[in-house]
Order: sequence, then C-alpha cells, then structure tokens
Amino acid sequence: MSESLEHYKTITAEQAISEYDGLTDRMSITHQVLAWNNGVATHNPIRDECCPDFSCCGEPMWSDHERQVFTQAFLDGNDEVTDAMCNGALSTMVANALKKIRPDMGDVPVAIIGDPANTHEVQ
Ligand SMILES: [Zn+2]
Repeated sequence: MSESLEHYKTITAEQAISEYDGLTDRMSITHQVLAWNNGVATHNPIRDECCPDFSCCGEPMWSDHERQVFTQAFLDGNDEVTDAMCNGALSTMVANALKKIRPDMGDVPVAIIGDPANTHEVQ
C-alpha cells in the first residue's frame, strides 16, 4: 500500500469504499483490515469478502482491543492467530444466526472445523 498507516486514522466509510478502485486483490485485504481496525467496516468488493468479525454485514462482534490484536497479527503475517480469530468469529456468527431462526433451540454451541480453539473436541 502506498498509503501510510496515518491515513487510516481518519478514513471515512465513503473514502474506504472509493479507494478499493485500482487496488490489487492482496492490497484490498490490507486496505479493508486497516480501515476496519479504525472503525470503518466495509465489505471487500474486490474479493466479496467480509471483515474478520463480519461487522460489515452484521453487528460488530469484537472489541477495539480484539480488532487491534487481529490487525497486528495480520501485519505480522501470523496466520495462526488470524485464522483462529476468524474461525471464532465465524462460529459466533453461525450460532447467532441459528439462535435467530431457531430460538426454540436456545444457545447451541457451534464449532468450526479447523478452529484451533476446538482442537481438544476433535482429538
Ligand atoms: Zn460483509
């Protein structure tokens, strides 16, 4: 990215959306994560992909701290952390959706296969 991290401290949703134009696939992910880290959740139009906590298409799930932890791991290339956090968010999103369409079932634990947090359940 040619933009500095400073740029993302003041980015607006309108700017974030317009700035996807001309970005490569990989650059668009970085753009999305950095804008999202600063509270601007945009669905990635290049990859048709949600933010790590799905807040672009649903309600925010993660705290500022969790977003910062994810963003730092993303910038560090720490796939173990980013994959685990994405799988956790996906599990929560599915559990919340299930609760909405089948409230009679109550709270149903959802474990995404491949989520390191669930490894103990499948061994
Ligand atoms: Zn989305």
